[in-house]
Amino acid sequence: MTITRPDCEQRDRDDPLGALRQHFDLPEGVIYLDGNSLGALPRQSAARAQQVITQEWGNGLIRSWNDAGWFALPRRLGDQLAPLIGAGANEVVVTDTTSSNLFKVLAAALHHQKQHAPQRKIIVSERSNFPTDLYIAQGLANLLDDGYALRLIDAPEELPAALRDDVAVALLTHVNYRTGAMYDMAAQTSLIQAAGALAIWDLSHSAGAVPVDLNGAGADYAIGCTYKYLNGGPGAPAYVWVNPRHQATFWQPLSGWWGHRQPFAMLPDYQPDEGIGRYLCGTQPMVSLALVQCGLDIFGKTDMRAIRAKSLALTDLFIELVEQHCADFPVTLVTPRAHDMRGSQVSFEHPQGFAIVQALIARGVIGDYREPGIMRFGFTPLYTRFADVWDAVAILREILATGSWDRPEFHRRGAVT
Ligand SMILES: *Cc1c(COP(=O)(O)O)cnc(C)c1O
Repeated sequence: MTITRPDCEQRDRDDPLGALRQHFDLPEGVIYLDGNSLGALPRQSAARAQQVITQEWGNGLIRSWNDAGWFALPRRLGDQLAPLIGAGANEVVVTDTTSSNLFKVLAAALHHQKQHAPQRKIIVSERSNFPTDLYIAQGLANLLDDGYALRLIDAPEELPAALRDDVAVALLTHVNYRTGAMYDMAAQTSLIQAAGALAIWDLSHSAGAVPVDLNGAGADYAIGCTYKYLNGGPGAPAYVWVNPRHQATFWQPLSGWWGHRQPFAMLPDYQPDEGIGRYLCGTQPMVSLALVQCGLDIFGKTDMRAIRAKSLALTDLFIELVEQHCADFPVTLVTPRAHDMRGSQVSFEHPQGFAIVQALIARGVIGDYREPGIMRFGFTPLYTRFADVWDAVAILREILATGSWDRPEFHRRGAVT
């Protein structure tokens, strides 16, 4: 049956999450399908930034570390984020970048294995993982030297064979940034642990996009971004979760003073905080950190079940419409069709994917491009409407049918794609 725009408008009227769009400031005439890369601006963020700058910083000055709760903010935000990833209170901190948090948990995992199974020195990951994950692992392996190395698999099916008795840790990204393919976290965690290794999950494309249950899966460590689906703002600090069973022995080399048991005792020797404070390193960017709350507050108005249901409806609709309206063109679905293997994005491959995405952006449909040939569209149920999906596909079809993507300006590449 052919889907019409009025059908999509009806679905928007029936959408239980429809009212949440009003909590975002979105520009007129833009269909934003890149919330998987940089989330949209929550309506509260500008006022909150103003408050942090003029009141807390301007008036409060240094008193705000106590009075405005700045010092405690990484833990407070961690508690607010925890339910979205199946973590408990006092298990998560919001701090630093995903890359630096990954360095911490990888180092902690290798340190743990060194105590219990010193022959385990291999980090297993995927060649298709987000590059920073692989680069951080390479950097740490080089630093440690002494036989530490990476073993990369080319497909999830290769994981069991890669988990030999030399493997210390498997570092997997739950939802692949390029394809949108999602792992079964509980099943893979069991497999990894049964092989004697520890499981680190990168949740950058999962938190706020799909339900995650870290404690249910019994995972060991997790890290992820707040500036993607969580709408924390450009470069907003990331988060770290450590399974409570590892908390007391968690050791990481970025042993800065914020992780110290008594930071203001100014002692010459490092003693890690007894609790989750030990995942911290140094002073945080408070203006940026404070805005993470504005994104998280919106999640408090709904739940991940409702978000997941709409996410699947949006991605199903997009796939169906593209396959209906763009069947004459060489666009190939890269994202799994199976719901339990799909995150909240849809990727299509086209040999001219880069130019087509630039042409879409020029028409107000913002997706993005990832090598090789992949057009990536993120669906954020908090603010994306079913009618947006219809309009985006109509514009895509027009660009393909007229060949308007082939203008010289759409082939020029900026520093960020
Ligand atoms: C976006 C993303 C990152 C980003 O790391 P930064 O340190 O914030 O630049 C890391 N890993 C994955 C899987 C990502 O998708």
